[in-house]
Amino acid sequence: MNVATTIADVRALRSRLEEPVGLAPTMGYLHEGHLSLVRLARAECASVVASVFVNPTQFAPGEDFTDYPRDLERDLALLEAEGVDLVFAPGADELYAADHTTWIELPTLTGRLEGASRPTHFRGVATIVLKLVNIVAPQVLVLGQKDAQQAVVVGRMLRELDVPVELRIGPTVREEDGLAMSSRNAYLAPDDRTVAAVLYRALRRVEALWRDGERDADALREAISAVLAGEPSADVDYVSVADPESLEELDGTVEAALASIAVRIGRTRLIDNLVLGRSA
Ligand code: AMP
Repeated sequence: MNVATTIADVRALRSRLEEPVGLAPTMGYLHEGHLSLVRLARAECASVVASVFVNPTQFAPGEDFTDYPRDLERDLALLEAEGVDLVFAPGADELYAADHTTWIELPTLTGRLEGASRPTHFRGVATIVLKLVNIVAPQVLVLGQKDAQQAVVVGRMLRELDVPVELRIGPTVREEDGLAMSSRNAYLAPDDRTVAAVLYRALRRVEALWRDGERDADALREAISAVLAGEPSADVDYVSVADPESLEELDGTVEAALASIAVRIGRTRLIDNLVLGRSA
């Protein structure tokens, strides 16, 4: 496995990889969710590239950029064990000049859900994903359903900018109690960790209702909220039942929906989601 820290080195090493190439971008502190994306890339591609980069531009001032967990040595060992061919682990200076001024913005998709509480988050995400795709030039880009809005935003950007890469979305990998794996779970104190299982309980409840034939958007939202209300220390940011492509909040009878939740537990903000009515 090669490890590159500069764009020039990535390009030189990339040119020697067998095609097709799959790219799994990450912010490191890897868990099984990330590794499942690496395996998905491996299943479809002859070569796999992973990036490990805590992208400063997707964090707002006051968010957890400085505290974000990092352990590059461990990440590299995990990626090597997965048979990854090339890791790109740059410093921030390699990707952003001090006067960086080009941003990818998708205002109609990013004013809601995560974007409502994190107004500059998705321009950072879209910009870094496009930069990584331009640097690595993969045929396949693999992202996780765990970050549902990110998957929708990146998919739309790739389509509208005619970027020659296929997007694959891997299913959310969960802990035994259903908590979606996340590098940020490391912030959870033991009591908070127990409370955190409420997100998946709420999603399972709405999934069961859907199976029983409930199609009213308000009823679906209320069912999620009712489960979350059972854990008073879970401070709800939003409960959404939205169109899976436009991300607009739905009313009345729905045919398919992205059910998503953001909750603050202690100092940790957790998100989770489920697609109802079609495979994610
Ligand atoms: P991150 O390191 O949090 O930026 O995540 C890197 C990629 O891994 C993103 O495409 C995420 O959606 C994906 N990911 C994070 N957690 C999970 C999970 N539990 N299951 C599947 N994919 C995940």
